Amino acid sequence: MKCEDIVNLLQFEKDEQLREHLASCKDCQRNLPLLRLAIDAIRRATPAALSGHLSADQVVTVALQPERLASESDDLHHVENCPRCRAEVAKIRRIETTRFR
Ligand SMILES: [Zn+2]
Ligand SMILES: [Zn+2]
Repeated sequence: MKCEDIVNLLQFEKDEQLREHLASCKDCQRNLPLLRLAIDAIRRATPAALSGHLSADQVVTVALQPERLASESDDLHHVENCPRCRAEVAKIRRIETTRFR
């Protein structure tokens, strides 16, 4: 996928050709809800979610002391959107709970 594809995707409803195609194509109409979801996810993704992952320190804070973070914290947002960091957080939580057993 190229950058232009992403931009096209984000603006697909403004694009004449795409709109005409959509109006006449059953397949695309059926896929539209999915496409909207994908576009939504791209739009909501923060730069943190798109680029770097959390540092080990940040992962530990999210995992064990989430109350220290603001609910709108970029770190939390990143974890919500990033399967890799979410897996890290889950791993640390798992280690913590087994340790106290
Ligand atoms: Zn189509
Ligand atoms: Zn990440």
